[in-house]
Amino acid sequence: MTKLRSGGGWRAIFYSLQTARRSGGLRAMYQALRSKNACKTCALGMGGQQGGMVNERGGFPEVCKKSLQAHASDMQPAITADFWARHGVYELQQWSPRQLESAGRLIQPILYEQGATHYRTIQWKEALGLIADKLRQLLPDQTFWYFSGRSSNEAGFLLHLLARLYGTNNVNNCSYYCHQASGVGLNRALGTGTATITLEDLEQADLVFLIGGNPASNHPRLMTSLLHVRRRGGKIVVINPVRELGLERFRIPSDWRSMLSSGRIAHRFVQPHIGGDLGLLTGIAKAIVEMGAVDSAFLEQHGADVEAYLRWLAEQSWHELEQRSGVEVNEMRAVAELYARSRATVFGWTMGITHHRHGVDNVSAIVNLALLRGMVGRPGAGLMPIRGHSNVQGIGSVGVTPQLKQEIFERLESQFHLQLPTTPGLDTMACMQAAARGDLRFGFCLGGNLYGSNPDAQFADQALRSLDMLVMLNTTLNTGHVHGLAKQTLVLPVRARDEEPQPTTQESMFNYVRLSEGGPARLPGPRSEIEIIAEIGRRVIGNRPMVDWDQLQQTSSLRQWIAQVVPGFAAIGQLDRTRQEFHIDGRILHRPTFATADGRARFFTYHLPPLVGSQTGQLRLMTVRSEGQFNTVVYEEEDLYRGQDRRDVLLMHPADMNARRLAPDQEVTIRSATGQLSGYRVRPFPRIRPGNVLMYFPEANVLVPREVDPLSRTPAFKAVAVDVLPLDQEPLPTT
Ligand code: SF4
Repeated sequence: MTKLRSGGGWRAIFYSLQTARRSGGLRAMYQALRSKNACKTCALGMGGQQGGMVNERGGFPEVCKKSLQAHASDMQPAITADFWARHGVYELQQWSPRQLESAGRLIQPILYEQGATHYRTIQWKEALGLIADKLRQLLPDQTFWYFSGRSSNEAGFLLHLLARLYGTNNVNNCSYYCHQASGVGLNRALGTGTATITLEDLEQADLVFLIGGNPASNHPRLMTSLLHVRRRGGKIVVINPVRELGLERFRIPSDWRSMLSSGRIAHRFVQPHIGGDLGLLTGIAKAIVEMGAVDSAFLEQHGADVEAYLRWLAEQSWHELEQRSGVEVNEMRAVAELYARSRATVFGWTMGITHHRHGVDNVSAIVNLALLRGMVGRPGAGLMPIRGHSNVQGIGSVGVTPQLKQEIFERLESQFHLQLPTTPGLDTMACMQAAARGDLRFGFCLGGNLYGSNPDAQFADQALRSLDMLVMLNTTLNTGHVHGLAKQTLVLPVRARDEEPQPTTQESMFNYVRLSEGGPARLPGPRSEIEIIAEIGRRVIGNRPMVDWDQLQQTSSLRQWIAQVVPGFAAIGQLDRTRQEFHIDGRILHRPTFATADGRARFFTYHLPPLVGSQTGQLRLMTVRSEGQFNTVVYEEEDLYRGQDRRDVLLMHPADMNARRLAPDQEVTIRSATGQLSGYRVRPFPRIRPGNVLMYFPEANVLVPREVDPLSRTPAFKAVAVDVLPLDQEPLPTT
């Protein structure tokens, strides 16, 4: 495999040209990329009314491989009817996530019934009839409704409304398995659960912390903004157990100077152990206090529980902080000095922070550090959770949560005279556990791959198989269509965002709402998500005063509802007339005003847990996305920036391999307290901190326990204690 010296660059350009050529040609791909639709992939946000490849600062051309891969997937030919006769479920279970993804577009409803060997195609009328009959048989709280962050605000709003009118609050979304900790941690401290800055602010910062993520692979256009920060003399501190190539050097294909330069991104790389961020961030805060670099005026005017926090910080010993992070005190102090000199700092983080049993505490440690120097509530400074799916934030904003925000609940009841259920709803893991117990009988998944996203894959398979009916709405195949199949499993083909018959909206991670115009269907067969949901509403709920499913099938009508009930979304009610995209009110903090009970920003203390595996001598595993995938969707087997040509690998530091007398590409068994994987190849990977290992999500979920952060209910995909043994050696008994 070619050894790259940077991310992006010519390789990205060649790949894009190849992908365009095999997906209908350069012209077709350019038209798809330039259409007035929000990018389908990550939440950084591109496109909309300004046309595709335009970012929130008006930068053009801004496009990346991930966006091309998503378009190429939607431009695939149809899966023909004989496919289902030729390929049985058992065979499809042996296919890799990439093979399933690239089988083509789903165009016909298909049904699998336990005991059968194959899916069969069925007519829409029969499919919708089966769903309506099942829902009429069950009690509302025997059902759950799961949403991926790829669907539109309108589809999300309509489906949670349907679920609540049906009578349940078992409504949740994919962020429970990714950024929920960011929402919980930010909300309890600041009274808002999303980024406090705009893309413009990021580019005005003179220091950016990038914590627990690899945006070079997962949010590539963020590299443009980081390059601009560096060009203005700013600094980037990367905190990650892995020295990711694309965070060291990245050449921006649309920037000739960057293509001719070294493309340096990180000014400083800090490599704590997996799970060591909490100790490190606490240490940097302690150093800031000790060097007297605190913004006392800000804390005086805007801080809450400051004294308690400072007392707690003083009690934390440097020795313990070193033990709990794997980072030396001098390194913590050096980073603190950089921070102390900063006039405007942005803290960005992804799932390396949220995928822990202490995910919310990790977020609190970041917020505490920002507040200490008054880096929240002014231009050029603030907090930036780097979200995954292109509309994962919007889905949450419009009400797709087990517990509706009080304002939304009250306004729906008062303005639309609805009576909504008040029974406590279940989050994603709680739904899986209830399904495993047999308490839930029906699951409805709007996009995504619930099976594939779950930890403890064996448990997820059993839980979903115990359902009477599982309905999934998707554009292409994934592992959730062949594993965890209920007594009856229905897969309904849907239109992609740029094939929607009506305009829809999406919210970026910078709280910016875009209007996507949709476009013509590429293939006959798939239906829009909104059309399917409205039809189920008609059949199961029927029309009621204020609830007319024909009217609710109009996205412009749904925007009127959203404008009236969702806080900060009033402007969406004018969008159809003005085409004016907007930042949601009250989210961007350019002044230190906090929507908390006392209007102050609150500090939080926490317990510093020991590093996973440190007491048992086991290795610490983190599951990651490769450069060739986006969340559970795998477009390429290879992981370019980590130099891997296959996914059944375990990446380990050469020192750990030597200590275990393991040879490169030797087949091993990886075993955790939850499961084991055998036949994987161990590969030397000097970029990772010794004592830690890396495998790909979702395949490695077999090893990940179901335990969740008690505050965010998010599983710890990023800190699993594992043993690694040569294949021919019997596994040690689990500790
Ligand atoms: S960085 Fe994200 S939003 Fe931008 S083009 Fe790539 S996938 Fe789309």
